[in-house]
Amino acid sequence: MSVPFDRVIIGDVVTSDTIIAGGYVAVRGETIAAIGEGVPPPAREIADHSGKLILPGLVDGHMHTSSSTGWPGIETATKCAAAGGVTTCVDMPYDVPVPVTDAAILADKIGWVVRTAHVDMALYGTITKTGGVGAIPGLAAAGISAFKLSTYEYDAVRFPRIDHPTMLSAFREIAKTGLPVAIHNEDQELVEMLTAQARAAGCAAAIMHCRTRPPLAETLADLEIFEMALETGAHVHIAHSSLSRGFELAETFRGMGAQTTGEACIQYLCMTEDDIVRLGGKGKCNPPFRTADEVERMWQSLVAGKIAYVSTDHAPWPLERKTLPDIFANSAGLPGLQSFAPLMFSLLDERGLSPTLMATYCAERSARMHGLWPRKGALRVGSDADVCVLERGNFIFDEASIQDRPEMRWSPYHGRKMRTRVAATYLRGRLIWDGTTVLTKPGDGRFVRRMG
Ligand SMILES: [Zn+2]
Repeated sequence: MSVPFDRVIIGDVVTSDTIIAGGYVAVRGETIAAIGEGVPPPAREIADHSGKLILPGLVDGHMHTSSSTGWPGIETATKCAAAGGVTTCVDMPYDVPVPVTDAAILADKIGWVVRTAHVDMALYGTITKTGGVGAIPGLAAAGISAFKLSTYEYDAVRFPRIDHPTMLSAFREIAKTGLPVAIHNEDQELVEMLTAQARAAGCAAAIMHCRTRPPLAETLADLEIFEMALETGAHVHIAHSSLSRGFELAETFRGMGAQTTGEACIQYLCMTEDDIVRLGGKGKCNPPFRTADEVERMWQSLVAGKIAYVSTDHAPWPLERKTLPDIFANSAGLPGLQSFAPLMFSLLDERGLSPTLMATYCAERSARMHGLWPRKGALRVGSDADVCVLERGNFIFDEASIQDRPEMRWSPYHGRKMRTRVAATYLRGRLIWDGTTVLTKPGDGRFVRRMG
């Protein structure tokens, strides 16, 4: 007897527009072959998650595997992704020791992805501080999903500031490729001046991280890049707006004919200045946490549809670089992949908002931005059978569960009450997380090219 499907996954199916209670997703090979409700069709294998939520595997459109460890970080970050219901990671190019600034370096990084990744990955490319604009067409042709540039310099090689004339010519070249360019948006002079003043006054308490990177440092950078978007026609995207004003500016410039967007990272939808005081270096990221009022305005922006998508900006650092008493001496960045799905679900549920918004902002929209939709980020016939299964309940996020190397096993969300946990993850039809264990081996993930 022939069986029409390899596997049916049973549960309440959550798409970006609806919830099918008592539904199923039927898989043939690596793709979704049917979606429905009621009695599931015959299949070689039944994955019964009745009563649980079946979402598209999340697409994290902004994360960093290799800021501290280099490309060996791909393996551990994507293992966390598997345990967190994230089936596609879009990785930033600011890697040590070599950022992804040309097609040859990209080919090396893709080699690491296909040998070591546990989930599928798309990749950003960038340019060198000077003389790098010529590499733009080659990076686009080699399949990157987006470019990333910065108005702020953390490191002249790994994470350089691109000056205005270079950025302008880069945007002109990027516009020809049709790819978006995400920008790290902070004003160098303002931050450097305020930081120097704080250091000179001996103020190195955690809150000074927020005080030395005020909202104006962000919006000044937003304006520069959006003016250049208007001038060049490039799709210019704020890589992380911690401010609702960033989305308003993007909307205003769209009204003038520019292609301007911005994304929120999940920490800007829940963390406040009180949290960096509580967490110290473990709460340091750029841009910094803002006020509780600003968090409310961020939610208004999200509900109004003004935010392009929600990402993690996952950037694991060893604990010893996040626990220094001088806030300025700590590295900037938070781990967030494994807590992404439980936290987003909880934040929505606490506000009485539907999990369909999670399918929209953490899967569909990020996949669309990176040219991966509808193969990724969708529960649709023909899409890759990437699925995140959520079990509702009362859970506490425990950093000891993090699937990274021991020194990276910490979280700013340790001890937070969560209203769900990731009960299972499927990657292209195959169970890769059973609620306890990551079942993949390094190299089971693939590089996914931008599809247009
Ligand atoms: Zn980032």
